[in-house]
Amino acid sequence: MNAEQWAVLEAEFGTDRILRDHRLAPYTTFKIGGPADGYFEARSADELARALRLVSAHEIPHFVLGLGANILVGDRGFRGLVIRNAATARSISDDGILTVESGAIVWPDLIEFAVESGFSGIEHYAGIPSTVGGALWQNLHFLAPAPARERTMFIDEVVLDARLMHPDGSITNRDRDYFDFGYDQSILHHSGDIVLSARFQLEPGSKDRMRRIIRENLAWRAERHPPLDTEPSAGSIFQKIEGIGAGRLIDQCGMKGTRIGGIEITHRHANIMINRGNGTAADVRAMIDRVVETVERETGYRLKPEIAFVGEF
Ligand SMILES: Cc1cc2nc3c(=O)[nH]c(=O)nc-3n(C[C@H](O)[C@H](O)[C@H](O)COP(=O)(O)OP(=O)(O)OC[C@H]3O[C@@H](n4cnc5c(N)ncnc54)[C@H](O)[C@@H]3O)c2cc1C
Repeated sequence: MNAEQWAVLEAEFGTDRILRDHRLAPYTTFKIGGPADGYFEARSADELARALRLVSAHEIPHFVLGLGANILVGDRGFRGLVIRNAATARSISDDGILTVESGAIVWPDLIEFAVESGFSGIEHYAGIPSTVGGALWQNLHFLAPAPARERTMFIDEVVLDARLMHPDGSITNRDRDYFDFGYDQSILHHSGDIVLSARFQLEPGSKDRMRRIIRENLAWRAERHPPLDTEPSAGSIFQKIEGIGAGRLIDQCGMKGTRIGGIEITHRHANIMINRGNGTAADVRAMIDRVVETVERETGYRLKPEIAFVGEF
């Protein structure tokens, strides 16, 4: 960033809020990533909008970061401003409309809030690390409650609309259709829109039933996924391919336990790589290349990563 770009950011938010050369690893679930030139934490949707207006008006390269649960940040970090979204205000109306700023954390914060208010619709996503913005970007999904588990539920099923900032700086409300939601997909992947806040239509629900779903889903995940606090990861690395789970293909190739540097394919789930403490983005990229080559050679399928790559590698 040049001197003028630093000056406008610091004039708007103060020098103490625009951090320079700030390491990103702690803000990702993989605990990997070099420094951002500039780092700003937006504490409200209004601050988020103001920061986005400035970066757009002054052509400052930027990235909006949620919980960092679906990205790999390069070892050389990010040239420009990382705006971490910590805008979390929320409310729920008597008829179950949950209005929330886009940095709100889905689990546990929002789910607990909805359950305690007696409204159902998002409890299925217990245990998944995500902000509301990230959830809309990716169309957060999980298996329907036990015993059925015969279908995948998607967050878009309860989305009413969202307040978006578009790349030209305008703000509009857009309903669910605008998002063109699909599996791991939404218009946000291509449009450059940033979600400022969103509304979800929830239904009255029994607290006992919701608590049971949460317990069962957390137990289901605990059996199959490495614990994030001791085995940092970015969740699933590769997309499903023609309806076949990438984990199944990687497992068929006997790759569980494979290690490159500080990165290991966990024994619990072949589509998840864990950071053994000193893992780097270069290790992750090398492991991705090795998996793609091996799976293609052994099965004929070419896997594609589902995580986003951010910054310089
Ligand atoms: C252990 C683990 C388990 C997981 N399990 C699941 C699962 O079961 N189901 C599932 O669907 N996913 C799962 N994931 C993936 C991850 O939880 C989701 O993709 C989540 O939605 C990411 O949200 P985030 O806030 O961390 O986004 P980030 O990773 O911070 O960002 C992801 C993308 O969203 C964009 N973005 C963030 N905020 C906004 C905004 N306000 N407006 C526009 N774009 C924005 C970012 O710029 C970036 O491009 C898992 C991940 C982990 C680590």
